Amino acid sequence: MRTILDSHMGVALNKQVNAEIWSAYLYLSMSYDMKSKGFAGMAHWFDVQAKEEFGHAKRLMEYIVAGDGKVKLEPVAEVQQEWNSPKDAFADTLMHEKVVTEKIHELMDMAVADKDYATQNMLNWFIDEQVEEEDTARALLATLEAIEGDKAAMYLFDSKLAARND
Ligand code: MG
Repeated sequence: MRTILDSHMGVALNKQVNAEIWSAYLYLSMSYDMKSKGFAGMAHWFDVQAKEEFGHAKRLMEYIVAGDGKVKLEPVAEVQQEWNSPKDAFADTLMHEKVVTEKIHELMDMAVADKDYATQNMLNWFIDEQVEEEDTARALLATLEAIEGDKAAMYLFDSKLAARND
């Protein structure tokens, strides 16, 4: 009888846990960089984003344990500490989310090849989430590109991002 989570899927999901925690770390770094540059609204937005990423890691860890696997927390790699502008931070956000989407799709490819139905179901949530993450990052980046150089518009944009709910 096969177990819900076989060991190579367990290893791959633990790798994704680390990637999600690294994402949280990246957004936390962006948050404090934006804060130090006087963009409190963007700092808040990235802080909420970091919490979300930590939530993604938790979701995966809960699944690993429920499938009788073992959670293995690896060291978190260093992240960039500074960005030239909010636009650069949001451009990196979009680029990063595209990389995450690839990773989720690779996990799904693996689950499909393994006929691992439980993991496929669990990953469907992440696939939907990535569509939203990319869409949000793309929209915010497009706005920043449109208002580039306009300080008043930048102020309004920052105020708008301060309203993001946890
Ligand atoms: Mg994530």
